[in-house]
Amino acid sequence: MARLGHHTLRFPTTTHVYTYYTGYDDCKLLNIHTSTPEQREQIQGFIEETEADVWQSTRELTTVVVCPFSDFLLLRKLNDSGIRFDVVVANLQTRFDSDYSGSVLAQASASVHRGGESVFMKLLCKYFSVHCESPEPPKKKTEIVPNIDIVGKFASHAQIGHWLSQISARHSHISSLENIGTSYEGRNMTIIKIGKPRTDGANKPIIWIDAGVHAREWISTAVSISTINTLLTKSETDRRVATMLEKFDWYILPVANPDGYYFSRNGHRFWRKTRRPQFPCFGVDMNRNFDINFGGAGSSASKCSEVYRGTKAFSEPEAANMRNVLTRHKDRIRGVVSLHSYGQLLLLPYSFTSTKPPDYLDLERLANVTAEAIERVNGRRYGYGTAPDLLYPTSGSSIDWAKMKLGIKYTLGIELPPHTATASRLGFAVSEREIAPSAEEVFAALSAMSAHIDSPLGRT
Ligand SMILES: [Zn+2]
Repeated sequence: MARLGHHTLRFPTTTHVYTYYTGYDDCKLLNIHTSTPEQREQIQGFIEETEADVWQSTRELTTVVVCPFSDFLLLRKLNDSGIRFDVVVANLQTRFDSDYSGSVLAQASASVHRGGESVFMKLLCKYFSVHCESPEPPKKKTEIVPNIDIVGKFASHAQIGHWLSQISARHSHISSLENIGTSYEGRNMTIIKIGKPRTDGANKPIIWIDAGVHAREWISTAVSISTINTLLTKSETDRRVATMLEKFDWYILPVANPDGYYFSRNGHRFWRKTRRPQFPCFGVDMNRNFDINFGGAGSSASKCSEVYRGTKAFSEPEAANMRNVLTRHKDRIRGVVSLHSYGQLLLLPYSFTSTKPPDYLDLERLANVTAEAIERVNGRRYGYGTAPDLLYPTSGSSIDWAKMKLGIKYTLGIELPPHTATASRLGFAVSEREIAPSAEEVFAALSAMSAHIDSPLGRT
């Protein structure tokens, strides 16, 4: 049975708050195998009905996590439909505890909880018409920050901010910081700008990189930190870095969803969305909140869905902050790279439709150059294509918005390894050992991409 953890219900006279914690006890990781479009459609329906958390979905394989009590319903539907599936992990909590005990992840997994999303609690909230709120301290902004080297580590948002200040100060001739706004809970969203000033003082083209849009994709943030470190510390010694910094200014946002990241690091390891209360649930999928085909395929109007799009485009401050800075610099931005995990893929626009952009061949050429550069690093092959072709359509994504609304030619999502979730790998919960190899691949990708974008072929 599901462990309910510390579970209290309070009904004060003015505000009604419940504290409801449960771990990932008895949550199951399922791999569902589909071979026809009809089966895929059927699975989509099951997922919506049971509000299962989709970790990845390709044509052949959909990986979901489903928890009590909706697991019962999903398993029954799968059995009745005859669609093949494997229960890869029968109890996510046990699996997580045994994998990460003693590691830095243990802090986040020691009391892995789901917050306020259970069917039982939703019914209860509805029945009593209570206002269901997050049990976490909502506006925690201060944190003791040990002075550590965070490269190759899963660092906190506060540690990252501290490290950015220090490293930027040490390399102030080629870097500066800018706070692009704050999150719902008041955390800073800081970008670092790295580049060698031109001798004539003229503006240079920009390549934008964001990470951590989805809170649980910790490796994307860690890889962006490694990238910053490489660009700053090897600017004099590595010819490739020197060229990258001469040709472009690099604007890097390591934590695009700081509230979600905090939440994921403090008990809810697989949290994806932002954190504004959306009665009776929390948060919005930032990558459905951009103003492009808003509300269309691959996004949900249900507030408890993992792909809830929000009430309107840019309803969430985190997405609006990104919109503002990208819009301000749109004439200089030549490339947008959004780091995500997992799947080992390069995702090209458009994400919301199977129709290809008019310059799709150019985008494929860039992706091909990039994938080849990546493969030379560790031998890992990243597939490339659009989300509807490789995974599933998504509406309201940042890469589509940047291409269609800002007119930026090269926009790309990178899904870092692993390729799929298996019994031995939990997909999002990669270990710190995975940071360096992924970061090397991303560095090779960025070097190859920027060289291509700067070449006569890339400029067309
Ligand atoms: Zn993501």
